[in-house]
Amino acid sequence: MSGELLSYSEASAIVVSFARGLSRSRLEVERVELGSASGRVLAEPIVADQDQPAFARSTRDGFACRAAEASRHEFLPVAGATHAGEAPAGPLPVGAAWEIMTGAPVPAGADTVVMIEHVERDGKRIRMLSKRSTAAGDNIVGKGAQARQCDELVSAGTLGGPAQIALAAACGYARIAVYKRPCVAILTTGDELVPVDRETGPGQIRNSNAPMLAVLVKAAGGEPRVLPTAVDTAEALNAALHQAMEADLLLISGGVSAGRFDLVEPALARMGATFHFTGVRIQPGKPLVFGEVQRAAQSSLPFFGLPGNPISSAATFLLFAAPVLAALAGGSEIGPQFVAAQLARATERKAKPGLTRFLPGLCDFNPPSGGLAQVATVPWHGSGDLPAFARSNCFVVVPEDVSSLDAGAMVRILML
Ligand code: AMP
Ligand code: MG
Repeated sequence: MSGELLSYSEASAIVVSFARGLSRSRLEVERVELGSASGRVLAEPIVADQDQPAFARSTRDGFACRAAEASRHEFLPVAGATHAGEAPAGPLPVGAAWEIMTGAPVPAGADTVVMIEHVERDGKRIRMLSKRSTAAGDNIVGKGAQARQCDELVSAGTLGGPAQIALAAACGYARIAVYKRPCVAILTTGDELVPVDRETGPGQIRNSNAPMLAVLVKAAGGEPRVLPTAVDTAEALNAALHQAMEADLLLISGGVSAGRFDLVEPALARMGATFHFTGVRIQPGKPLVFGEVQRAAQSSLPFFGLPGNPISSAATFLLFAAPVLAALAGGSEIGPQFVAAQLARATERKAKPGLTRFLPGLCDFNPPSGGLAQVATVPWHGSGDLPAFARSNCFVVVPEDVSSLDAGAMVRILML
């Protein structure tokens, strides 16, 4: 591909539209125990099996009564009591109150619950304290107020988190359908790489991208499959790419810059790849490549060629590969989730304008001031500086048209 490089937002729009175009219908589904659905994408909606609540429920310990009667502040005889777990009782006799516990069904005829702390007792009678008032509906959640039987409460494609699992349990799902995790092939390339359990020789470095990308893939809902590292030769890359063809997504690290041994693009081209873009105006990560290789008639393998420097690989994964992976996993939320934070210190722009920058930053979500989350960029020696990266917990976004950011400015950050 020649000509002008795409901006961050242009490249991001291409990735998001590709991701949205992936159809969920071809995804495989499995049924898992509800507790194992955490972090999985739901493949079926959560549907209310009955009204929620199924009965008018008291939200307080107190006395169910009629608001009009209680508001006279006269003693009302206590005609009965209902505990949580007991069947709905009543009806409430006229001019009476009914002792009730949190979570218990409100007896028919009562329209309010007066908190136990707001009444005075005289034997088997109670009266609302003179400084208190009550109105119909207070401390009662009506039958079906939260949801109606057969309502779809959460749609398929939602990530299973604690709230969704609690809701599914409330609706009687002991097992639930989730999408199978997409298989993500991770191919690291480079003559200089040695595995983590080997000593490095002169000029060699350990392959840190393979384990880093594997955990990023897991965190984004994929099943990583780390392939043997390929050396920088056309033959090695050809063989490695063939091994990756069964995966749902291919991540290649290294070999996409403009150097003489950056052989990944030609190897992909030999496989008949279509390139959606080669290079983006971002820093780090400018050489990023995105495309797909056709395999069977109806199926293609999407791939990202991630620049080999570890911070570039991480940033481009989170910004571009994670959204595609989220869609392949069946998720409906696919864009990177930026959050806002306040810049603790001014940041000067060192790079050329026109590049959107993603600087390693450390965000303090509980600053001593008690105010907004405070983020500061972490001093670094470029995109290979793993010690600096390990002191950060996010990327700070510096938009392409911004030359410097003052302390106190609101910025977008992307969490690691
Ligand atoms: P490349 O993208 O292949 O030009 O590599 C850019 C830089 O990233 C070089 O300094 C490489 O040594 C380094 N690098 C490439 N792959 C890895 C890897 N798997 N782990 C750690 N560093 C890497
Ligand atoms: Mg290389």
